Amino acid sequence: MPDICPASWCTVHRDRISRNLELALDLVPTGRRFCAVLKADAYGHGIQQVVPLVQEQGVTCIGITSNSEARAVRQAGFNGAVVRLRAAAPQEIEGALEDRVEEQVASRRAAQQIRASAKAGRYKASVHLSLNAAGMSRDGLEVSTEAGKETCREILDCLGDRIGGICTHFPSNDRPELQQSSRLFQQQVSWVFENSNLKRSDVVVHAGSSLTLISETAIETDMYRCGAILYGILKPELGFRSTMDLEARVVSLQDYPEGSTVGYDREHRLNRARRLACIAIGYENGFRRLSRNGSVVVGGRFLAPVIGKISMNAIVADVTGADGIQVGDTVSVFGGRGAAPIRPLMAESQFRTIMADLYTDWGRRNYRYYINQ
Ligand SMILES: *Cc1c(COP(=O)(O)O)cnc(C)c1O
Repeated sequence: MPDICPASWCTVHRDRISRNLELALDLVPTGRRFCAVLKADAYGHGIQQVVPLVQEQGVTCIGITSNSEARAVRQAGFNGAVVRLRAAAPQEIEGALEDRVEEQVASRRAAQQIRASAKAGRYKASVHLSLNAAGMSRDGLEVSTEAGKETCREILDCLGDRIGGICTHFPSNDRPELQQSSRLFQQQVSWVFENSNLKRSDVVVHAGSSLTLISETAIETDMYRCGAILYGILKPELGFRSTMDLEARVVSLQDYPEGSTVGYDREHRLNRARRLACIAIGYENGFRRLSRNGSVVVGGRFLAPVIGKISMNAIVADVTGADGIQVGDTVSVFGGRGAAPIRPLMAESQFRTIMADLYTDWGRRNYRYYINQ
């Protein structure tokens, strides 16, 4: 714990990230590659801290989205492939040249920009042709239409053998949908090879994220791109463990009589005398305002309901009857060392969103400190 004693903090378990990665690599079928997805500042864990952990296990491809992430990955000494996992603005492509980011291309405009830049010796990385394949309809090229095929031919002419990858992103990993998307992607990939001089052995055809890797459905892909699984969001039964705790401290304990109202707008009223703990975490720290009916673990053992509206820097929990709770005690909002830690499923239902959203938010709104055990 640093000397400034932050009021709320995230504990990042480096050892668990390493272990999760090891388990994930074991799931990758022989001969397939693995791209460690460290976008969103490594899902809120701090990308500088996570890069060395993936390097240690010989990972040769890292997925990012922003240029500052690419820079952090290079500064940590990573020399492998840095792949951007979405389309980039022209300005972003410019800004990422020095860090040799491999861009996704799905338009003439991007292809022409990269070609010009490569001719001038400035763009040195490989390029990934991004296909929609009835996928996300986010930024991939839809080649089921004549216009899409025409664009694709132009991109292929423009970039030629600079294309080192062809990719898509599956919108669903439910069996029938995954099978259907995968089949369509493979058909479109075949069309690309038939309509270009690209050699299959020179190109990494990649699709599939954490959910694809753990699905029972076998699909064709040369490389899985996985984020969530590294951070213990999925499959606790296989040994994956969540990699971040969110904690804060009790700063006040007070007894209030029956009929007192709690918090802004007097929304909560005590129907009996209660002992309430004020805890130094609020929406500033990612304890979202909608998360009213959740609970926190006080002092490592007492599950206390959070009551009243969430303040900017404080929440109030009902600790009536919790003997031995003191000001200064640790409160776990997520994870923690208590006997009954708050786990992903519970947090997702309390905050009504997915763990990736929570991690990225918490990690950036709280002091982070790192432990190895
Ligand atoms: C975020 C992302 C991934 C990783 O997804 P997870 O579900 O976290 O494993 C893979 N590919 C693309 C294109 C992504 O945007």
